[in-house]
Amino acid sequence: IPQSHIRNFSIIAHIDHGKSTLADRIIQHCGAVSDRQMSAQVMDTMDIEKERGITIKAQSVRLNYTKNGEEYILNLIDTPGHVDFSYEVSRSLASSDGALLIVDAAQGVEAQTIANVYIAIENDLELLPVVNKIDLPAADPDRVLGELEEAIGIDATEHNLVSAKTGLGVPELIDAIVERVPAPQGDENAPCKALIYDSWFDNYLGALALVRVFDGSIKKGEMMRVMGTKQDHQVLDLMYPNPIAPIKTKEIRTGEIGIVVLGLKTVDAIQVGDTITTAKNPTAQPVAGFEPAKPFVFAGIYPIETDKFEDLRDALNKLKLNDSSLSFEPESSMALGSGFRTGFLGMLHMEVVKERLEREFDLDLIATAPTVVYRVKKTDGTEVEIQNPSELPEPQKIDTIYEPYVKATILTPQEFVGNLITLLTSRRGIQIKMDYLNETRVLMEYDIPMNEIVMDFYDKLKSTTKGYASFDYEPIGFRPGKLVKLDIRVAGEIVDSLSIIVPEEKARSRGLAFVNQLKELIPRQLFEVAIQASIGNNVIARSNVKSMGKNVTAKCYGGDITRKRKLLEKQKAGKKRMKAIGKVEVPQEAFMAVLKLD
Ligand code: GDP
Ligand code: MG
Repeated sequence: IPQSHIRNFSIIAHIDHGKSTLADRIIQHCGAVSDRQMSAQVMDTMDIEKERGITIKAQSVRLNYTKNGEEYILNLIDTPGHVDFSYEVSRSLASSDGALLIVDAAQGVEAQTIANVYIAIENDLELLPVVNKIDLPAADPDRVLGELEEAIGIDATEHNLVSAKTGLGVPELIDAIVERVPAPQGDENAPCKALIYDSWFDNYLGALALVRVFDGSIKKGEMMRVMGTKQDHQVLDLMYPNPIAPIKTKEIRTGEIGIVVLGLKTVDAIQVGDTITTAKNPTAQPVAGFEPAKPFVFAGIYPIETDKFEDLRDALNKLKLNDSSLSFEPESSMALGSGFRTGFLGMLHMEVVKERLEREFDLDLIATAPTVVYRVKKTDGTEVEIQNPSELPEPQKIDTIYEPYVKATILTPQEFVGNLITLLTSRRGIQIKMDYLNETRVLMEYDIPMNEIVMDFYDKLKSTTKGYASFDYEPIGFRPGKLVKLDIRVAGEIVDSLSIIVPEEKARSRGLAFVNQLKELIPRQLFEVAIQASIGNNVIARSNVKSMGKNVTAKCYGGDITRKRKLLEKQKAGKKRMKAIGKVEVPQEAFMAVLKLD
């Protein structure tokens, strides 16, 4: 099939606007799976994943479609939805020539709609506006199209109205894809230039790379070079992604997408964003814009039992096989012992990693509160990067502290604007833009310190707007801040893992809120425990955990032995999540309490 009959497109949308459902309908309409397989297939995939431990990421599919007797290849390239993984979204879009921009007909334009459109525009993609869920009684396509024009300034005169649920409008949409998404324009005779836009680990085949070939081709048996690593590897196998099972092929040609098997043991060697070329006759330039994914937030992860340190190292190494954006290095804490300082793309990424470590590797872990990276210019002229608040230099050695800022985009019903301004201002946000998209919906843009986002911002935003506002952010660089380190002392000792960096003007209120939270979270011990917040040697807030008096089981008035046992078991289970700091048992929640101080 010639390049002129290939269409590479992504589907972009805010979460829950119907991306996956529409992808299923398109796949079904192209006849790649029968109606029966459609539902059966999901189950099968999960069984295989469970039985064999294979990660099957069915993001991209190659579909055959016939229009007016002409055969086409439609490559549907899926994008992950969450803001943490916007790095991967841009890689997927870099592999496409067009994008379906899905907007929920009842919900309208949301923050991730806008964020995704900007990435699509940066990648020069043809945008096809699609209003989905028109079957809903509350659907208002005209309002939604107006929002698209108002919020993003895109021309929505040519658009499709569909219901991914019922299939209404889907055949017309596929025709529009064939007509409006440009065909690939690669040079078939040039050296191979293929962008790795996804990679994952398969227990049988090793690390797999999903690529879009821009120029030339990849042939089975050929030696290929991964340009970022400068390593050469032989192509052991090639496959086209298919909704049922990958289909083997001998060659992936210009304009096509496919899966490359290089027999590699880790995904490190084939990072997303890197370029594959022919070893014999390499292309001069990699595909533009390759930068390794960069962690935004860092946290310490520690085994609760100190002898599990090596197990934790093994587990992190295994996770990294499949997640090249995960970074970690050993660190030790006076309070928590030996563990790892771990870097994440965002808060969701952190939660996922911690949960996988605990569930898949049976580890009991304590995670410290996540922190952003600070840059510190010292009085001696040198600059250091701080990933752990306890590493902040002595105040007299600091010239300036720089903190990362993000541009936050918020879409909200008009009635919450006042409350949002209050919230954003209290979080040190600077208003950049406020646009009324129509009488009811407002687009707000703020520059705001990333640290304020890490501090439980998302939950606050949701509660302030009854769940109606949506939010997205992108990093915009470092700015100087008046910041200080706040230390926490438990029974007189500084607990290094509880130190935080806070704006000077908020130090007192946050310190007080923090010690009061800790007072509630640290269980009573046999003795009274003083909790203090201090800046340097100045104690700025304090509280006490009262001593426990009598044994808890005394409450059970003898008799009921099962109740007593249950209580003891409950205490034991609770202990697993505790870490002894000196003589004081501190629960996991205490380390996260710092996130909820406002
Ligand atoms: P994604 O997060 O963008 O992938 O969204 P999903 O495809 O998972 O859809 C989110 C929810 O919307 C699901 O409950 C779908 O069943 C529902 N949904 C998707 N498309 C339609 C549609 O056309 N009409 C209606 N009524 N519901 C839909
Ligand atoms: Mg989905």
